Amino acid sequence: MSKRVFLSLGSNVGDRAANLREALARLSGAGVGVRRVSSFFRTEPVGFQAQTWFINCVLEGETEKMPLRLLNTLQRIEWQMGRRGGRRFGPRAIDLDILLYENAVVRLAKLTIPHPRLAERRFMLIPLRELAPHLRHPATQRTVTEMLSETHDTSQVIRLKEDSNPSEGT
Ligand code: AMP
Repeated sequence: MSKRVFLSLGSNVGDRAANLREALARLSGAGVGVRRVSSFFRTEPVGFQAQTWFINCVLEGETEKMPLRLLNTLQRIEWQMGRRGGRRFGPRAIDLDILLYENAVVRLAKLTIPHPRLAERRFMLIPLRELAPHLRHPATQRTVTEMLSETHDTSQVIRLKEDSNPSEGT
């Protein structure tokens, strides 16, 4: 039985949009069917100001993998794409997170679903709203639109035009 998942993708090193596209391709080659992808957004780094802005998107996917297997797959792709430890909020070629997995609530040492910072991250909520504005957080029952209007996060999230070159500018 395949499960509907929403994943967050972010990059702030190298050709950031190309990194997102490569990660999307690697995900579909690794058992995560890509159903829909949000626009790409330029996003202000949260928690660590002195670095390049990120490019972020959210994908709606389908997978037969159980949550921990899915996390392993994401971590393998991060590793293959050159993220080798480093500072938690520092530069990274690709950062992959599980935002939602069906209506599951998972609380394990290495995995929390829904993502523990979903409601505090405009760079997750704004792309997610594009795909699923009425989707509810399975624990708080807030919709994506409600979480966005209630979040304390004020960091900037700017949608990229389809034909713009994201490597220009900040
Ligand atoms: P970060 O560096 O912020 O991407 O955090 C990576 C760590 O978060 C990993 O060691 C994961 O085990 C843990 N983690 C907990 N919940 C999640 C989630 N929903 N998606 C991805 N990583 C998660």
